[in-house]
Amino acid sequence: MKTVCIGAGPAGLYFAILMKLADPDCDITVLERDPQGATYGWGVCFSDDLFELLYDHDRESARAVRRASVLWRRQETHLDGGVSRMGGYGFAILRARLLEALTQRAVQLGVRVQHDHPVEDLAELADADLIVAADGAGSRIRQLSGDGFDTRVDTGHNPYIWLGTDKVFDGLVFAAEPTPGGWIWLHAYPSSSSVSTCVLECSEETWRWLGLDQREESDGLQLLEKLFEQVLEGHSLISQSRGEPARWLRFRDVSNESWTHDNVVLIGDAAHTTHFTVGWGTKLALIDAVELVSSLRYYRDDLPMALRDFDERSRPFLRRIQAAARGSMDWYEHADEYLAGRTAAEAAYAMATRNSSGPRRSFRRFRLAQRPPMCWVRDARQTAHRIRQAAERGEYAFVPHRTSRRG
Ligand SMILES: Cc1cc2nc3c(=O)[nH]c(=O)nc-3n(C[C@H](O)[C@H](O)[C@H](O)COP(=O)(O)OP(=O)(O)OC[C@H]3O[C@@H](n4cnc5c(N)ncnc54)[C@H](O)[C@@H]3O)c2cc1C
Repeated sequence: MKTVCIGAGPAGLYFAILMKLADPDCDITVLERDPQGATYGWGVCFSDDLFELLYDHDRESARAVRRASVLWRRQETHLDGGVSRMGGYGFAILRARLLEALTQRAVQLGVRVQHDHPVEDLAELADADLIVAADGAGSRIRQLSGDGFDTRVDTGHNPYIWLGTDKVFDGLVFAAEPTPGGWIWLHAYPSSSSVSTCVLECSEETWRWLGLDQREESDGLQLLEKLFEQVLEGHSLISQSRGEPARWLRFRDVSNESWTHDNVVLIGDAAHTTHFTVGWGTKLALIDAVELVSSLRYYRDDLPMALRDFDERSRPFLRRIQAAARGSMDWYEHADEYLAGRTAAEAAYAMATRNSSGPRRSFRRFRLAQRPPMCWVRDARQTAHRIRQAAERGEYAFVPHRTSRRG
């Protein structure tokens, strides 16, 4: 089967890897508009279960992703001078390193990955049996396919910007600063041993009040560095990625009534997006790849049936997840109301419970869980859990990278 995959993001590359593993004779080409090594954005966060997924399906790419990832082991909320610290852990990886690891594995398996190849016309894909549109939230392939997917794209209200910083945080940090024009906040996490990711966000009104809609790039960065001087400890924000300055954007909430149309199938952000504050997009993109390959293997000789099966199994699952992610986006779109008059601990609690539909842990229990002895016990348990999981996979556990941690 001749398969062309558009987009060398996590969805497209992982699909190509798994498809080649399932059927080494399959002819797969991945077409990517960007040059090799260049990608938008900085790091992405993820939890342990992403490793589980990778190890279950391809140990080689799992090991490569693990080697390029960093572990963070606490969470901090900074609010107007106050700080609340709590336990918890997760991982992060620079998008560029993730894509590099997956590209190398795909090429090793015999996938043709062609960079500098934007697809602008479906005619050039006419001889493909299967077209996998993994070209992200703004999918060109989706647009070129007419209204076949019944796409809906809603745009979030808050402007956000995806930046890097040379400050290496040692945990997942949320920091919010009040200004006379409203609150502005950042979500930050370490992404390699030398850089962290910073996503800055505020309401449209605050953004205009701060003049961020009009300032030159360097002027805007200086203002943000000044506002977050304390949490950045005087470090710089970095705007440039793939040779271009980062731009303020608005989140695109993408959903489709169908993920297949003729011989075209959507996966990853082309099919569905989830707001970045939930940190699920990459894992969901990989799950799509796993599920699509599973359907193609099961209905080996019946492509339309395989695509229908993928669509019918995967789409309902995503609907619930997207609803939860919209709840998170909505919380941040009203963050000014939730942050005003709160302490850092109260804000941390409000954020931690923003998505919970079940009975909520009380604020008192939440505070108790943040006491140093409780954190220590939880950290020890989590470390033991990680070591056990790694041992089961035949790997060494993660060791946190050394950072310029405050005393
Ligand atoms: C600010 C921000 C922070 C995020 N943080 C996290 C996080 O912490 N954790 C997490 O899991 N997820 C996070 N995400 C989401 C995550 O980045 C996406 O969900 C994930 O990258 C989706 O993968 P994908 O392969 O579907 O699409 P993409 O990664 O967008 O890849 C699509 C690829 O297609 C290429 N392409 C586009 N058009 C064409 C064309 N016409 N021809 C050829 N190639 C084309 C693009 O260049 C790109 O390489 C974040 C997103 C944002 C915006």
